[in-house]
Amino acid sequence: MTRTARSPYIAVLTALLLAVLAVAGCGGGSDGGSGGPRIAVTTSVLGSVVRELVGDRAEVRVIMPNGTDPHEFQPSARDAARLRQADLVVVNGLGLEESLEDPLAEARSAGVPVFTAGDHVDVRRFGQGEATDDGAGADDPHLWMDPGQMERVVAALAPAVADATGVDVSATATSLERRLSALSGELAARARTIPPARRLLVTGHESMGYFARAYGFTLVGAIVPSLSSQAQASASSLAELRARMTARGVPVIFTEAGTPSAVAEAVGDATGARVVEVATHTLPDDGSYLTFMRDVMDRVVAGLRP
Ligand SMILES: [Zn+2]
Repeated sequence: MTRTARSPYIAVLTALLLAVLAVAGCGGGSDGGSGGPRIAVTTSVLGSVVRELVGDRAEVRVIMPNGTDPHEFQPSARDAARLRQADLVVVNGLGLEESLEDPLAEARSAGVPVFTAGDHVDVRRFGQGEATDDGAGADDPHLWMDPGQMERVVAALAPAVADATGVDVSATATSLERRLSALSGELAARARTIPPARRLLVTGHESMGYFARAYGFTLVGAIVPSLSSQAQASASSLAELRARMTARGVPVIFTEAGTPSAVAEAVGDATGARVVEVATHTLPDDGSYLTFMRDVMDRVVAGLRP
């Protein structure tokens, strides 16, 4: 079929067939694009988990391309159309998709069901670390940094997928939840190789709060003391950070997408800490959430090992 579809005659027939399907599928759960339901997911990390859950039984489209900073993403008209045309939209929530507010509202009013991952987790609030700053108490959107929270998301998402698309993913959900639970155990064992007194995190922005909560790390502070990479570091916040780092003997600053690297280097020079990059918002080459979390823990453990 793929070989013969190159002939113009077949291509025209295919186009006609797709047009018929598109008309027939109006308002229905399927579409003419892939023959299967469409799920639009806002971020690549969440998208990876949704792909694991639905396999090839639905087409999963990620709106924010992998590698872009979700805190600064600006949607195109095409992104808005993809949200409107989806059978189900999966968002992180907790303020992460601020820039998608309008297209998401459009999709909702067009009748597209929107599943919000943040509705199904034990929400962490900003400013529960040692550093407290403006915005203390705001919901922390970085729920994907704890596989235990992702397990809850998968459990809640499976029935939402069935409702929106008619695809029963309950068996895959059970096995995926089991794998996420095993991953949590594996990562906890890795974290325990670092003495508790050394489990100290200084990050680019406050992105590792769920990770810290899950694995017994202390958030000493962040270069940008905010839940978003888009906030600014201030002279006074940096002075406080340097003082806390020196008092604790923090050996590493973990930087990520959107961290002002010159500022991180300067803090590192002043405190004797090394600067190590960690991908907290970007999937690795294999596109796997499990690899993503293992990479994060590997970097953290390697950086903090005595
Ligand atoms: Zn972030």
